[in-house]
Amino acid sequence: MLVVQKYGGTSVANLERIKNVASRIAEYWERGDQVVVVVSAMSGVTDSLIKMAHGLLPSPNRREMDVLLATGEQTTIALTAIALHALGIPATSMTGAQAGITTDGAHTRAKIRNVSPVRIRQCLNAGHVVIVAGFQGQTDDDDITTLGRGGSDLTAIALAAALKADLCQIYTDVEGVYTADPRIVPNAQKLDEISYDEMLELASLGAKVMQSRSVEFAKKFEVIFEVRSSMNKKPGTIVKEETKSMEDVIIRGISMDKNQAKVTLAQVPDRPGSAARVFGALGDANLSVDMIIQNGSPKTAEPCTDISFTIEKPFLKRATDLLLGIKNDLGFNGLAHDDQIAKISIVGVGMKSHSGVAAQMFRALAEAGINIQMISTSEIKVSIIVDIENADTALKVLHAAFFPEAAKADKIATAKN
Ligand code: ASP
Ligand code: MG
Repeated sequence: MLVVQKYGGTSVANLERIKNVASRIAEYWERGDQVVVVVSAMSGVTDSLIKMAHGLLPSPNRREMDVLLATGEQTTIALTAIALHALGIPATSMTGAQAGITTDGAHTRAKIRNVSPVRIRQCLNAGHVVIVAGFQGQTDDDDITTLGRGGSDLTAIALAAALKADLCQIYTDVEGVYTADPRIVPNAQKLDEISYDEMLELASLGAKVMQSRSVEFAKKFEVIFEVRSSMNKKPGTIVKEETKSMEDVIIRGISMDKNQAKVTLAQVPDRPGSAARVFGALGDANLSVDMIIQNGSPKTAEPCTDISFTIEKPFLKRATDLLLGIKNDLGFNGLAHDDQIAKISIVGVGMKSHSGVAAQMFRALAEAGINIQMISTSEIKVSIIVDIENADTALKVLHAAFFPEAAKADKIATAKN
């Protein structure tokens, strides 16, 4: 079997953990598998490299940032190879370039253009474990690039696709994907399987298990992978294309995102072009908005409407400054913003074939006396905005409503203790 394993930053955080990783790799190698391992930088390293550069200059040259950031992963590949040598296992480390990963020239957020794992194959055929630096590649002009934060996941998925791996395992510090964040909902349950689309919704909605781009890539190239813990032997969550039986489960999971803020423009002239101006201006400034709500307006001589949207908290000030700058031009009356909100979403491919899910969600919140500020829906999710004070309670209430067995199982377990 050809196995691709990826170990994230916390799994290689220190020498003890690297030894642990080496012994896990050894198990597969000893049973006769060919093993390609992708590693991240030791946890905290990428952040501290960024901090150092910013200590010198607020926005450093991106090409130089890539040269700098790539060193994080380069440290880990060598240490992991050496740890395997200490176990008597032949292992060879490779940078992204040596592994045959070529990218475009968009420094610090490059896209993979091609993977040509010739050297990896040679090394595997010689009986070696190959350790590849995640998160990096090289342009056609031999410049080092990086793939955006969390990019080691992408390296692993791309290699699994290119090598046609039999198994792709993403090792991390959680045991898999849960029905909700277990730190807030203690009886949240680990999922055995989840579809790419559900995983994408849950990841992009704040359940940050994996880089979203890598899940999109896996979907495109049909790479089945497993998210699992590097700290124990428990099976994790399998991520794959949706199957018929997956649709029997209406809600797969519930995510929460506290990194959102809401902006409301009051009395925007209701005429063609208003929304285009607002969101065009934000888009031109690279500020991406999430939910958008616009009301209808009464048929008066000069109709006006309110427009609300959400944006990630760190971009709130830039967005409001920008909109206030074009206030007279646009002709709206007032701007209000609120960063004390949270977005909660229920996600499941089964929603496509079941009705009444949104109503069930709203009823559960109503019974708990929680007010909903905004609502949006798509084919496989319903999202709401609530006051941040109510966020944890809302998540718990919804989890109890959609996963009643989990709550019951928990009660029985506590009664026994
Ligand atoms: N070291 C990089 C980061 O921290 C890439 C990764 O860990 O996946 O973003
Ligand atoms: Mg990561």
